[in-house]
Amino acid sequence: MNGVLEGRRVLVAGASSGIGAETVRACVEAGANVCGLARRADRLEDLARQTGACPIVADVRDPDAVMQGLERAAAILGGLDTVVNSAGVMRLGGVENGNLDDWRMMFDVNVFGLLTVTRAAIPYLRDANGGDFVNIGSMAGRRPPEASGGVYSATKSAVHVISEAVRRELRDTGIRVTVVVPGMVETELRRDVSEAELKKRAQFRGPLIGIPPQAVARVIVNALAEPPEINHWEIALLPTAQGTS
Ligand code: NDP
Repeated sequence: MNGVLEGRRVLVAGASSGIGAETVRACVEAGANVCGLARRADRLEDLARQTGACPIVADVRDPDAVMQGLERAAAILGGLDTVVNSAGVMRLGGVENGNLDDWRMMFDVNVFGLLTVTRAAIPYLRDANGGDFVNIGSMAGRRPPEASGGVYSATKSAVHVISEAVRRELRDTGIRVTVVVPGMVETELRRDVSEAELKKRAQFRGPLIGIPPQAVARVIVNALAEPPEINHWEIALLPTAQGTS
């Protein structure tokens, strides 16, 4: 991968763990200059020490913080041509006893957060005369994997639809939009899901080991490294044993 992203100026939103953190590492290894955005400053500082990626502490639910964060990233990197939208949260639970705060939070981060980062970034990508948005969707966005994942799935469906719309909106700008659609990935995403929900999920799916987040980062770098006239619209990758969404 060495050098394939030489000269690229990348912002990764959701960079403090999981897919986002591994994408930061992979992009740096591929020669890009990178800023990582998230809320946990300590994680971003660690990542900065390990990779040289510049930490931007911001909450994607706060439009002013996002605007300032992108301004800072662009000032540090000398502009911006690539944005990876990996910030996301997951809560499980059915509708009948559903928790409105959980629902709101998932839509605020996974949907409005992605839209807010995207809106703030478009002028920079236009200035760069092209570039990339890579949005992390999910197999769950195609079909809820089980009843308790319905609202999370809905947020990821929205990511797929919004990505398609942004691709159309920007089609004459040289800006590509790629949706990465993972199955189960071994990350901290389930850290706030209750044990009971995780057990229910395991009963439904059987024992399943997710793919490493490094595998997702690898396909992101490969898509970014394509010549500008080629756009990977959608890349799905799952554990071989998953078999269903
Ligand atoms: P992680 O929990 O490891 O990463 C989530 C990232 O999002 C963290 O860096 C977190 O940082 C950031 N984030 C969450 N809320 C906010 C916020 N309000 N503002 C800024 N950043 C925020 O999970 P994954 O790496 O698995 O998740 C990355 C993406 O991949 C998500 O969009 C998820 O939906 C998607 N995905 C994951 C799958 C899986 O099985 N793991 C499968 C399919 C898709 P911080 O808390 O520091 O703010």
